[in-house]
Amino acid sequence: MNDGVYQNGKLSEWPYPIRYGKINRVDVDVLVIGGGLSGGCAGIFAARAGAKVAVVDKAPIKRSGCGGAGMDHWNNFSSNPKSPITPEDLADQMSGNGNLTHREYIAMKGTYEALMELEKMGLEIRDKNGDFAGTATLDEDTGLLKAYDYQDMVAIKLRGGHYIKPVIYNELKKQNVSLYERVMVTSLLTKDGKQGTKVAGATGFSMETGEFYIFSAKSVIISTGYVCSIWTFSTEITGASYRWDPNEIGEGLAMAWNAGAEIYGFSNAGSTHGSHPFAWPRFGIGNPSNTWFPCTIVDDNGVEVPWEDYKGRKLATVEERNLPAEGQPYIASGHDGGKNTTTPNLTRDLSRMVEENEVQLPLWADLEAMPEAERRSIWGVMVGNEGKSRYTLYDYYTREGFNPDTDMMWCPIMAPNGYKSKGWFHGEPNIVKPWRTEAFGGQGEIVTDWDDMTSLPGLFSAGASSGLEGCSYACSSGMYAGRRAAEYALKAEIPTVDQAQVQKEFDRVYAPVRRNGDVDAYVSWKELWAGSARVMQLCCGEYRKQEILEFGMNWLQSIKRTEMQQTFARTPHELARVLECETRITVSEVYLLSCLAKLKETGSKGGMEEGTFSHKREKKKPETLLFQRMADGEPLSYTRENEYWLKGDNAPTYLENYERHNGGRKS
Ligand SMILES: Cc1cc2nc3c(=O)[nH]c(=O)nc-3n(C[C@H](O)[C@H](O)[C@H](O)COP(=O)(O)OP(=O)(O)OC[C@H]3O[C@@H](n4cnc5c(N)ncnc54)[C@H](O)[C@@H]3O)c2cc1C
Repeated sequence: MNDGVYQNGKLSEWPYPIRYGKINRVDVDVLVIGGGLSGGCAGIFAARAGAKVAVVDKAPIKRSGCGGAGMDHWNNFSSNPKSPITPEDLADQMSGNGNLTHREYIAMKGTYEALMELEKMGLEIRDKNGDFAGTATLDEDTGLLKAYDYQDMVAIKLRGGHYIKPVIYNELKKQNVSLYERVMVTSLLTKDGKQGTKVAGATGFSMETGEFYIFSAKSVIISTGYVCSIWTFSTEITGASYRWDPNEIGEGLAMAWNAGAEIYGFSNAGSTHGSHPFAWPRFGIGNPSNTWFPCTIVDDNGVEVPWEDYKGRKLATVEERNLPAEGQPYIASGHDGGKNTTTPNLTRDLSRMVEENEVQLPLWADLEAMPEAERRSIWGVMVGNEGKSRYTLYDYYTREGFNPDTDMMWCPIMAPNGYKSKGWFHGEPNIVKPWRTEAFGGQGEIVTDWDDMTSLPGLFSAGASSGLEGCSYACSSGMYAGRRAAEYALKAEIPTVDQAQVQKEFDRVYAPVRRNGDVDAYVSWKELWAGSARVMQLCCGEYRKQEILEFGMNWLQSIKRTEMQQTFARTPHELARVLECETRITVSEVYLLSCLAKLKETGSKGGMEEGTFSHKREKKKPETLLFQRMADGEPLSYTRENEYWLKGDNAPTYLENYERHNGGRKS
């Protein structure tokens, strides 16, 4: 029995000593906020570049973040020497889709080097024992296992993906990086405590003891991952419904916003699949997609459901599912390669086939019907490494005797209605409206330049907080940002921490525990969360209209003035949850502001459908892009020329800019 949890045989109220207000000071060259994949890699590379580094995370770094439980695909891998498709080809294709393509290019350029670095740190990436010798998935020259497109190798299956975080954690220790775990960072410190000035560090508090932290740093990297749980309130089924790590509320974004850094993409964001409150854990059931690609699916009589290529042409064999079809340049995964690069899938005619009794439900994932190497790829390499299927399926089912050579797995939700929903393949029912999902699709992000530096001097960002999705992007952008932040820090002066700014944050952070016991303090963090989620559900749904968005803004302001001032915290855990709610409100405000700015920009008088906000869904290339930031307490919205990253003082090509900023390095 754990003495910390049980005292005198009774469950203790809180297992750690509480020391609210005790101040810890930490001085470093580079501070990394968020020790997930990008933050972990950033910490290692900043330390290797000679900087004194601290990495802070809300969770234990060995398994924290989205990559903590494991991953299966290394996407965006065109930088590997075997791929005929180059990052330059892809950047040219992506340019104009409304993304800030220079950051994707930087990340894409580094995915090969990042993988080699992880291998040197001890990550198993190759087929060392010859398990896949002589099979189509193995690239004989490199020992890497190809994924999706066996011809072009733009993605691979990652052996050892389950261990990526422990490997990064061990290397952080080896590089003598100071690790602060279970510490939640709450704000950035800036020169003279002003918005829009050079960064000077950050504040945080221990989620165990409640102690306060003042980090002084010459440069800071934000790598806090995604923005989640803005539209939904869900405490009890988060494991099943969250697409991303529940620790990720958008704190990095909120603190960058409060400090005056430039933000992009909120007005483009919309609902995303894979995050339904009633969904199965992603990939936690038999299905044909992503981790399970290209699994054979049969009906209850064993009749195979046909596969089709991107143009709806039937594919006769499993082998064909792994090769580009006629007219396809390559099969993309993990990046926006355009319509003609989409992966093959089950027939679009499935609904009709079910309704007309041509296939009998339920459907089954039939691994046995696949070539042996494909079966072992899915069940061993992929399902066995991906975070959400490793524990729920691979470990549990294996222990209980599931045998992929003979057993099939139910695809329980592939009824016609489910099939019509874009989340059908991982068990997302079609009954609740899409905007009630918890993550943004194409979320808002912190803007960075060719050095991965934000608009605030000394503040860098990497991984999902700067709009980059996926493990390979996270690791390579982390390594790049780590190097750049160290270079910056090693030339910078020791920052002065503004005491008034610290005091203000100190008071804000501890207000919910000070309210405890006050008769006016009766709102719990759960109620505060439910409240702001309700505002977003009602005021920022499928249709966005000026009056309703403004009403939402006023409503959030009112919650800040009233309910937020009545919210209490009884423990450091609850304190973290209350402060996360405050982050949700800030992120929601930025979201509403961005939508209002977008409506103004388009001159729309009526309501606009959520989908039409996205550049990606517009046919033509946007001429300008919409940005936001705070200046002297006031939010600003403004546009910049599209592809500004290739104009003005920048070089006209992606490669030239990259080499200029990466110390002449080619990758
Ligand atoms: C289960 C699962 C499987 C996946 N599999 C794949 C895959 O196979 N291939 C692929 O390409 N992608 C995959 N992804 C996506 C990929 O894992 C993410 O894109 C990637 O981890 C993002 O890296 P990041 O560093 O930006 O964020 P994360 O790795 O999520 O790290 C963010 C960190 O910030 C910390 N944090 C947040 N706020 C604070 C704060 N205020 N103070 C201190 N710390 C804070 C969090 O605790 C977290 O550790 C998967 C995601 C999930 C959830």
